Amino acid sequence: MDDQENVAWCPSAKPDRPEAVVLGIHADSDGLTYLDTPVPAAEAVALLPPDVIPTRVLRFAGHCYASCHQRIGDSCGLVTKTALHAPAVEDSSLPRCHLRPRCKWWQQTGADACRRCPLVVHDVRVDDELSMRIANPNVAADQV
Ligand code: SF4
Repeated sequence: MDDQENVAWCPSAKPDRPEAVVLGIHADSDGLTYLDTPVPAAEAVALLPPDVIPTRVLRFAGHCYASCHQRIGDSCGLVTKTALHAPAVEDSSLPRCHLRPRCKWWQQTGADACRRCPLVVHDVRVDDELSMRIANPNVAADQV
């Protein structure tokens, strides 16, 4: 159930979920600046100009829920493919991240997820073919 205290959290969630918080800020095209402490998504989104799409400038975290289209059984199919196929950051140290104790991606693939997490964007560009295949739930991990 999504409202349990020990529910796992998704680090690439939509901001409109009631529990959603800001994970980080897309400071530039190459990475994410992780917040030290979570900020409610609704508060952050309210501060943005109306013509700014929130997921273009911020990454949000929210509950990992059973009906998510990326779910494969109890696993997140998105992070499985991300860990296998997405490029990793060059810095070998892990991001300092407030979500780690409850992060689904960390629980499932550990450091392999964290080394790719800063480069993940929620709204994948249509001309980014690799990311589109990773994000497509109909593309299996061995077909990316
Ligand atoms: S994958 Fe790693 S860096 Fe990304 S949100 Fe989860 S714990 Fe934090």
